Amino acid sequence: MIAAMKYYIWTEGCQMNVTDSQRVSSALESLGYASTLKPEEASVIVLNTCVVRQSAENKAYGRLNSLAPLKKANPDLVINLMGCLVGIRTSDKLRDRFPYVDVFSPPSDPGPLLAYLTQDDVRQKMLEETRQRNAWMDEDLPLPEAEHGRLVAAHIPIVLGCSHACTYCIIPYRRGVERSRPAADILKEARSLVRQGVKEITLLGQIVDRYGLDDPSLPNLTGLLKQLNEIDGLERIRFLTSHPNWMTDELLEAVASLDKVCPHIEVPIQAGDDEVLANMKRGYTAEQYRRLVEKLRAVIPDVSIATDIIVGFPGETADQFQHTYDLLADLKMDVAHLARYSPREGTVSARRMPDDVPAEEKMRRFRLLEDLQEKIAAEIHARYQGQTVPVLFEDKVKSRWRGRTTTNKLVFVESEADLRGKVVPVQITWTGPWSMQSRLQD
Ligand code: SAH
Repeated sequence: MIAAMKYYIWTEGCQMNVTDSQRVSSALESLGYASTLKPEEASVIVLNTCVVRQSAENKAYGRLNSLAPLKKANPDLVINLMGCLVGIRTSDKLRDRFPYVDVFSPPSDPGPLLAYLTQDDVRQKMLEETRQRNAWMDEDLPLPEAEHGRLVAAHIPIVLGCSHACTYCIIPYRRGVERSRPAADILKEARSLVRQGVKEITLLGQIVDRYGLDDPSLPNLTGLLKQLNEIDGLERIRFLTSHPNWMTDELLEAVASLDKVCPHIEVPIQAGDDEVLANMKRGYTAEQYRRLVEKLRAVIPDVSIATDIIVGFPGETADQFQHTYDLLADLKMDVAHLARYSPREGTVSARRMPDDVPAEEKMRRFRLLEDLQEKIAAEIHARYQGQTVPVLFEDKVKSRWRGRTTTNKLVFVESEADLRGKVVPVQITWTGPWSMQSRLQD
């Protein structure tokens, strides 16, 4: 009976959630569950949710509602709701609204589900045996079956939670206070991933540059990068998301000098107008952000920079939006992740600032930035035309291998060879705003 146990996992949201789901999958597999892509076949269903915008939250409700009939047909089905919809403390409102959910888990914590599944003795015994066999909790972190030996680029959370208070953001409320993970755990996890075929690791945190600042016994991010850089077999290291106020010169120099650390920085600006930035409580001005970008470009050769922007923040006037537009046109970032402001329950902006930019106007501003960014990205990518660049290939999509440059540009190449996990120099033959084509060197 146990051999037939299957789990289905659905993930919405950020990279942190993707890794959290990976952990849950590994844990479930160590309990004897196998993955399935069909929820109706599963005996455990995990929904790992995001609430950063209302649209994401609505998707989670949609999935939850779709599970009600499955639970009705099979009362033994275990439904686990996880992630930011749950948050660090499960609300009674949520329990009342979804009585058929068996287990509620906070973000990054497979614990409640494991505890629930191992209540009875048989499963407890199995867990013990598996632990002895794999010792996965203490020694190693096996990737889920489907990814073992296949996953080339993995993520490792290094800072959990967030204690910054951006007025629009729900994350601190749902993921709890900022806490850095022990460096020894991170290094162990990185080595384990590399043994399983991983070549690239991205370190994750809401303000990743703050790693170690909450605990004097830990190294800072620069120190951690130096240690990771020593791992044999690891090819590339990235980290995200940065905050302009926490990027030190020391960190920038480390990115420039450590051979495995990629010249790619994700540092959101959110708005290009000082009053909007102050209302968001971001803690910097547009000019300070501009100077940071200049410094990044001066210190890190050929750096690529990604940013996030929210349009239609409460009170954002047409002129204030224009400041954002002009700054983006001027700075020419490699990537801009755009979002329309969405009031989130409990945040300062939702409580105190009316959501007064009409939906159509938010859309109009979004489209203007989208068009601008498309042109900028196309222009930046055109500079790669004809160049030979090293690409780490990750997987094959139809006849083409898909990989990325150190600057995080998506590159495709036609090849019959097995390029998975290999860094190969390719010559760029075509560029567009979102990707590039290339050919292998003769
Ligand atoms: N701590 C990270 C990630 C935050 S969430 C950071 O600082 O970037 C990812 C992005 O979602 C944010 O950068 C922001 O652009 C967007 N976002 C967060 N809250 C939002 C909201 N209420 N409405 C619209 N976009 C939001």
